[in-house]
Amino acid sequence: MFHVKLSKANGGGFDNPPVSRETIGHVGFVDFLGAAASVCAALRTFTVWSKPVTPEGEALLLSAALPLGLDLQPHMMVFRQLQAALLEGNTRINLTSITAEREIILKHFIDSLGCLQGGWLNGSTPLVDLGTGAGFPALPLAIIKPELPILAVDATAKKIEFVTRTAQTLKLGNVRGLAARAEELGRNAAHRGQHDRVVMRAVAALPVLAELALPLLREGGLLIAQKGQLSDAEYQAGREAAEMLGGELFHVEHYHLPVSNDARSIAIFRKIRATPELYPRRSGVPNKKPLVDNS
Ligand code: SAH
Repeated sequence: MFHVKLSKANGGGFDNPPVSRETIGHVGFVDFLGAAASVCAALRTFTVWSKPVTPEGEALLLSAALPLGLDLQPHMMVFRQLQAALLEGNTRINLTSITAEREIILKHFIDSLGCLQGGWLNGSTPLVDLGTGAGFPALPLAIIKPELPILAVDATAKKIEFVTRTAQTLKLGNVRGLAARAEELGRNAAHRGQHDRVVMRAVAALPVLAELALPLLREGGLLIAQKGQLSDAEYQAGREAAEMLGGELFHVEHYHLPVSNDARSIAIFRKIRATPELYPRRSGVPNKKPLVDNS
């Protein structure tokens, strides 16, 4: 019964040339898989739209954003959807180890928005989020700054698929995903020396970030590197590496995260001349052998 119905829908009905039972069975099975996939997709969308964020969670997000100078009230619905999408996506691919609502709000949403401290991302100069992972800081930023075009880059294609799908679900037209390694982009004429702003959160030590990001920047462009508490040794190593790469580490913002009071720093690099052809080195090398080792 199931087979006949499905095969008819595929043009295998009685008016058409005879189709063997085997073919009908096959077409039916393929259609069954298609139908099952549609049901899964519908369920996913339903989960994303219906998953509740508790009133405590909403209150926490609102109150934690205030000390950062941000009013998230107008964006509450979209943050709710982002939280649901993250939890749903995490059931299929390994996106984050942070799954408790309170932690998602403080360690992903609020921490991400910390990159606005100091005003280095004011305005609408297009931004590259290099090593975006599950979309941090790209997605929270895109929600509150719809005028800011963001290219979200990560080496892991599945993470970029998630970011792209989530941006569509949340109707964030300002986010584009790109699955690529920073080292490849740094040697690609379409990206080398072509960007004005790069942000990186929780990707690597400063000398590694400098080698991955500075080649992408135009002269005068900025790298905004979000770090935990920055040690003097890492700061010095970052300065030395920047000089080798045609940049300078010229400023550090220090602040504390609301609620948890954890220390955070943002290191600001500027590109001041062309990066020597030697850099970035081959994929994986910047991480394995940092230009300046601060360990
Ligand atoms: N920025 C996100 C993810 C941090 S985890 C957040 O704050 O939650 C670091 C991410 O950087 C990983 O997803 C990893 O795939 C990506 N990454 C590391 N080295 C990279 C490289 N050379 N090029 C592109 N992505 C890289």
